[in-house]
Amino acid sequence: MTTILNADLHCHSVVSDGTLTPEALAARAKANGVELWALTDHDEIGGQLRAAKAAQALGMHYLTGVEISVTFIGQTVHIVGLGFDPKNQNLVQGLAQTRGGRGQRAMDMAAGLAKVGIQGAYEGALKYAGNHDLISRTHFARFLVETKVCKDTNEVFRKYLVDGKPGYVEHRWATLKDAVTWITQAGGMAVIAHPARYKFSANQEFALFTEFKGHGGQGVEVVTGSHTPSEYLTYAATAKEFGLAASRGSDFHSPDESHTELGTLPFLPGNVTPVWELLADRIQPMPLNRPEHSTSPGH
Ligand code: AMP
Ligand code: MN
Ligand code: MN
Ligand code: MN
Repeated sequence: MTTILNADLHCHSVVSDGTLTPEALAARAKANGVELWALTDHDEIGGQLRAAKAAQALGMHYLTGVEISVTFIGQTVHIVGLGFDPKNQNLVQGLAQTRGGRGQRAMDMAAGLAKVGIQGAYEGALKYAGNHDLISRTHFARFLVETKVCKDTNEVFRKYLVDGKPGYVEHRWATLKDAVTWITQAGGMAVIAHPARYKFSANQEFALFTEFKGHGGQGVEVVTGSHTPSEYLTYAATAKEFGLAASRGSDFHSPDESHTELGTLPFLPGNVTPVWELLADRIQPMPLNRPEHSTSPGH
């Protein structure tokens, strides 16, 4: 199947740390010419039915999605799941377990911020969390922008929310093996999200890809809002080296905060196998009627 498809397989709604509803995201994706869409909220699939219904109403193809937080050799890595059965109990329970520590972590983050004179951050962040089960650093960042501690969320992360800063709290997420297994046993495909974002040495990155593949992982994001054009090429080569399919997704969170708009990234390079080729039977509704060698970007 062609790599020339306006697929956007990574974005966030109010169900995690995005600011738009699943329905508003679907409409925005459609308006931007997205042909195949997936909503991938952090550690949560509560928005899947709404997203799939909205996509269907707009005549847009849909894959179920999630982005699972994982701790791998001391760093947080994100694993996207696509095309799984959202009713799979192992996956549902695994995600609930992964979300479990967020409440305490948020209180500890607020305590850290209070020590440097920022009061009320827990309540302030919670106000922004559409889903109280899924309070994230992004919600703290919005509160610190609201209270003019910083001018934008990027500055908040840099000064307060990354390792070594007052609002950072060490946290253990799911294991790589568990996340990949939950997704694949639910009939889905596990995909390494935005690999260029991690601060791994070459050896550590090799270990990540090798172990991921060993656990049954099948894909890697190549074209994402977190990569530069030269990183598209680097990870297209990595995908080929490890025999992984390639994915494309904006990681859109909010019209006010995201620099990459839904459905506007370049297409995947022509030399990779797109994830939608392996997921063809899980796309809703089936089939994805598209000519093999189309050259039109679809918008
Ligand atoms: P959490 O899962 O609570 O650790 O929050 C992680 C989320 O914070 C990511 O999914 C991004 O949406 C956001 N994030 C991480 N780093 C940054 C940054 N430097 N600037 C803005 N947002 C960020
Ligand atoms: Mn996020
Ligand atoms: Mn991510
Ligand atoms: Mn994301």
